[in-house]
Amino acid sequence: IKHENDVVVIGAGGAGLIAAIEAKNNGANVVVIEKMEFPGGNTLISGGEYAAPENWIQNQKGLSDSKETFYKDIIKGGDNESDIKLAKVLAENALNGALWLRDSINVTFENRQMFFGGHSVERSLVPEGASGVELIKKLMKKAQELGIEVHLGTNGIELIRENNRVIGVKAKTETALHEYIAKNGVIIASGGFGSNLEMRKKYNSKMDEKILSTNTKGITGDGIILGENIGADTVDMEYIQTYPVCDPVNGSLLYTGDVRLAGSAILVNKEGKRFVEELERRDVISFAITEQTDGVGYLVWDQKQLDDTGVKKHHKEEYEGLIKRGILVKVNTLDEGAKHFNIDAKELKNSVEKYNGYTKTGKDLEFEKRGGLITLETPPYYILKVAPAIHHTMGGLVIDEKARVLDKKGKVIKGLYAAGEVTGDIHGKNRLGSNAIADITVFGRIAGKNIVLEK
Ligand code: ADP
Repeated sequence: IKHENDVVVIGAGGAGLIAAIEAKNNGANVVVIEKMEFPGGNTLISGGEYAAPENWIQNQKGLSDSKETFYKDIIKGGDNESDIKLAKVLAENALNGALWLRDSINVTFENRQMFFGGHSVERSLVPEGASGVELIKKLMKKAQELGIEVHLGTNGIELIRENNRVIGVKAKTETALHEYIAKNGVIIASGGFGSNLEMRKKYNSKMDEKILSTNTKGITGDGIILGENIGADTVDMEYIQTYPVCDPVNGSLLYTGDVRLAGSAILVNKEGKRFVEELERRDVISFAITEQTDGVGYLVWDQKQLDDTGVKKHHKEEYEGLIKRGILVKVNTLDEGAKHFNIDAKELKNSVEKYNGYTKTGKDLEFEKRGGLITLETPPYYILKVAPAIHHTMGGLVIDEKARVLDKKGKVIKGLYAAGEVTGDIHGKNRLGSNAIADITVFGRIAGKNIVLEK
């Protein structure tokens, strides 16, 4: 079955929908193909937070920030391994992207921010419900309004070329083979490869079956392979990020643990001792946890912190499930919680007491925790057992500042664009929390615009 359009987008996650909308806004006829039976990808299951320097909440709070500071955080957070041109594009356009989501896509942002590890200032906007659901819902609504077709259950399997130019993609549905011909070209927005065990092991032997993954099932690196098959270059494939606060049984990212990101909660080991700064980078905390007894950590907070952060309200279903399964406990005394998990009770109480001392002086003498230190003293207490899981693949297709895919000689592959987690080199060795949503927005928009405007 043959379809003819100006632009075909592979993947209806965040980057794909954003690119499709921008291409349409610039006059193109657009179709999106999505291999799953539902849109959203990893964006849907993310917290949806968006790092934007100089944003409106910062202005309200009188927090000073700049694009330059954000740029430096990206570079430093990735251990100086980012492509500086791409990092600059992200830093310079992040605020505009957030305004576009708010004003053109009607994404509702809450009247607060989160403070993610590795950022030097609080700058992460929070979509309603602290969830990617709000983003995907509004993007799908906009796509529909604009008449963009999203073909679900449609798996892109091969790029079609003519005269050295990408002119479409072959795709498979359950019952048929399709050819999506695209006059302007194809945008790959198929996400990373966190759910592809073989691919993970191929590039980084440490990321084997022992490590769980937060990713949805469809995130198997397809776009990277499609690109490679026609000579596209890849970069940084070995840099795979784990998220520290995940379900120790099934790998799901635990939003209940976001109490930590408000600057509350301490992280201890089975011996009852803190072992890392709770607002450190994801890779640092993850690695620290794997070094502890049983490869797990325990986040401890109190009732006031739970109420103040609204975490239980926002993630009610997850919270209740964790309680039911005994992975999270609500206890009147720390002794009781320690007993449930077999944590050293005396040391745990000692750690809490010491920490509370630091909250009084505002200085964490052990780990120099940044952000406001909040006292942990209002029972009931909560203890959450956590383990790291694979979360984000930093590597992927090589693109330039116009989101054009490059070949191994650094030359533009005509008609081929890419945006989102499928691309590499923006975040270096380590992507900071809330930078992915900024990335998919900024580069999704660039890809959507350029595929129409570039000749
Ligand atoms: P990003 O964060 O970069 O936007 P997401 O993970 O949110 O990426 O979305 C990627 C989407 O691409 C997912 O919905 C995924 O199911 C889809 N996808 C992956 N591979 C293919 C493919 N071969 N054909 C069509 N869609 C795909």
